[in-house]
Amino acid sequence: MRFLKDIIVERGQVFPGDVLKVDCFLNHQVDVMIVSKLAKEIYKRFKDSGVTKVLTIESSGIPLACLVALEFKVPFVFAKKRKTINLTEDLYKAKVFSYTTGKYSDIMIAAEYITPKDKVLIVDDFLANGSALNALIDIVNEAGAGLVGAAVAIEKGFQGGGDTLRQNGIKVESLAIIDAMSPEKIIFRD
Ligand code: 5GP
Repeated sequence: MRFLKDIIVERGQVFPGDVLKVDCFLNHQVDVMIVSKLAKEIYKRFKDSGVTKVLTIESSGIPLACLVALEFKVPFVFAKKRKTINLTEDLYKAKVFSYTTGKYSDIMIAAEYITPKDKVLIVDDFLANGSALNALIDIVNEAGAGLVGAAVAIEKGFQGGGDTLRQNGIKVESLAIIDAMSPEKIIFRD
């Protein structure tokens, strides 16, 4: 998506450790006009798939997932990283390795919100090694729901998570795929 690639070049910052910082429009401050355009593009790519639920992981997947859910007019559910007293005992759990904190954590979803009747579209801000998406896919499978595919704003293609998922037959749509990046230059896949 040319629009997103231009914004990444204008406003993104590449940090050591292959981290792209896009806090000014996606990960901390959220530019809803930009994110809403991304959501509309994701809707276009999955509109005929019968999506009944959008699934993401807290916290930075939430704004995009919320606007994607609005396009589909379905609810979105976000996996929680902390067990709070109002989370029921009937849970689906999976382990995720956080690229940005370097730690493993459990993610949890109340079983009532993903059911075998659902056709789930997974949405996240970034796709790197694929740990977050794989954890969400494990939960969809455990729930016996259908997986329509996954959509992310930015895929770091050089980390391989997206290509592995595609090789496993999962439809993965990324609005911008970065093949290489340095503080001086970001190279996108066509
Ligand atoms: P993965 O699980 O695919 O390795 O990493 C994806 C998750 O890590 C996303 O949920 C995202 O929040 C975070 N992440 C991975 N790489 C980056 C990055 O370069 N920049 C930012 N801001 N987040 C990232």
